[in-house]
Amino acid sequence: MGQLMAKLMSIFGTQEHKVIIVGLDNAGKTTILYQFLTKEVVHTCPTIGSNVEEIVLRKTHFLVWDIGGQEALRSSWTTYYSNTEALRDASVLIFANKQDMKGSMTTMEISQFLSLSAIKDHPWHIQACCALTGEGLPAGLQWMHAQATAH
Ligand code: GDP
Repeated sequence: MGQLMAKLMSIFGTQEHKVIIVGLDNAGKTTILYQFLTKEVVHTCPTIGSNVEEIVLRKTHFLVWDIGGQEALRSSWTTYYSNTEALRDASVLIFANKQDMKGSMTTMEISQFLSLSAIKDHPWHIQACCALTGEGLPAGLQWMHAQATAH
């Protein structure tokens, strides 16, 4: 069934990519996802589940799982990873959210703090954003789209 769907999607020129969103509680994950779902630049499908949404950008489908950041849930993260492209061909997009707040760390500071330059086996990108206004989110989505369609 999965193979059939993949075949049909390739015939009709669509691709599906799985995305998981992780981050600390209160980081703004839900707000970011909500912004994606309400922006006109993306066509969205009806809610699939409480924490799964589909975003479609130029024929590329992103099935987005917001799996939360609570410590109690972390043991279940691997369940999601095993069903995604996350472990093999994963690209890592880091949203440096809440840039509107005084004293927020810059992307440079966060990159150094997280030692992002040590990530050599996956493409990564850090994007400054403010989920409240949506600023920076389209740029992040564009990067995600470019990564997804490059493979
Ligand atoms: P989650 O726990 O990661 O899903 O975080 P939420 O999306 O629920 O956001 C937590 C709180 O941060 C909410 O009160 C949001 O309104 C707020 N928030 C999210 N993004 C931003 C932002 O860019 N700037 C500011 N000032 N607040 C934000």
